[in-house]
Amino acid sequence: MQTNFTPDQLADPMLEASEKALRACVHCGFCSSSCPTYNLLGDELDSPRGRIYLIKDMQENDKPASDTVVTHLDRCLSCLACQDICPSDVTYMHLIDGARLHIEKTYKRPRPERILRWLIGFSMPRPKAFAWLMRLAGLAKPFKAMLPGRLSSMVAQAPKVKTAGLSGRNDIFDAPNAKGRVALLAGCVQQAVGDHINMATIRLLNRHGYSVTLLRESQCCGAVNHHLGQESPALARVQANVEAWSTMMEQEGSFDAIIANASGCGTMLKDYGFVLRNEPLADKAANIAASTQDISEFLATLPPLDMTQPVSRVTYQAACSLRHGQGIIDQPLQLLLDAGFEVSQPANPNLCCGSAGSYNMLQPEIAAQLGDNKAAAIAKTEPEIVASSNLGCMVQLQERVEAPVVHLVELLDWASGGKKPEGVSGHD
Ligand code: SF4
Ligand code: SF4
Repeated sequence: MQTNFTPDQLADPMLEASEKALRACVHCGFCSSSCPTYNLLGDELDSPRGRIYLIKDMQENDKPASDTVVTHLDRCLSCLACQDICPSDVTYMHLIDGARLHIEKTYKRPRPERILRWLIGFSMPRPKAFAWLMRLAGLAKPFKAMLPGRLSSMVAQAPKVKTAGLSGRNDIFDAPNAKGRVALLAGCVQQAVGDHINMATIRLLNRHGYSVTLLRESQCCGAVNHHLGQESPALARVQANVEAWSTMMEQEGSFDAIIANASGCGTMLKDYGFVLRNEPLADKAANIAASTQDISEFLATLPPLDMTQPVSRVTYQAACSLRHGQGIIDQPLQLLLDAGFEVSQPANPNLCCGSAGSYNMLQPEIAAQLGDNKAAAIAKTEPEIVASSNLGCMVQLQERVEAPVVHLVELLDWASGGKKPEGVSGHD
């Protein structure tokens, strides 16, 4: 695609990255069939190609974001199915991230929208604040029908707070006769509502002979603010993490890997080098990015453990951030098969379930339709258990499918002698 940015515009690193992505696009439209919002709404402006044209016009002509641009870009899930399928390697992720920054700088949203986005950007990265909000939402659940539209759907899908795991614990979990050491990102929302996933991850890594150190300063990787276009808090979090983790590795020795068990966070960590590419911390950020592995990526390189789990039918729901964001497709399936589970996938596994970070709070109608479609596809596989690699997908699906929805590591932990995941019946 031809572009006409001026040299002054290209001095801005965000526009420089956009120009590179735009030039790579040959507007073939090959990506449209992979796009969940285009499939659902059938509007070219809700397809990747349509959004690319909107972004080009806005950025190249230095226009403030219009209502039309905001409507169609806000509907993008950042699922990256389009980037994954693109034959020209268009880095759509950096294009939409840059466009979101432009929107936040040039567009005044209605006050309720501003308050909601501020509340999400403030609370989700802070485990204690988020846990408190979710407890409040839990109390309001019986009255959800009396609440106005978006608030009602937010309350309806508020996850249960489960903070019994890491809270108050040491930050090092030694394996007996350890053969290596890894660092674990405990996450922000995950510490508030999914700490049992962190505990299962630690047990599993210890059983494989790896001591686990929790990353300090790691309340949040920055993805929540980054995807809302909230540049300052996102950058502050990324910089603080890179500084703290680099110091930790200098003082205490390096790790075999930095492990992420929430694939949305892993995708963000792997992009740290790009986010800080023009900052003094660029080299350190690139080192953190290169050291990061999803838990399934890391486990797939290790010799298998002895597994004792009787056969269960598991349907694996691939999180977009893992499948499209990190290109990790086969490893989780193979790990489940090696552990003795019967494994299926829903039809169209490339389509997003509608969770997408805070998307299901900001675009509840589209998110609900995508969630219902995914649940129907999962139901056809008749699972006893549904597994995913991302807490957001688990929360989105658990209200919609009959089978218990658990994290991949909970199943692998259980199969190798750990705790049976909550909600799973039989097979004692
Ligand atoms: S993003 Fe890729 S697949 Fe989509 S229109 Fe551009 S070149 Fe074609
Ligand atoms: S990121 Fe997902 S929702 Fe957004 S344009 Fe690409 S395929 Fe569509």
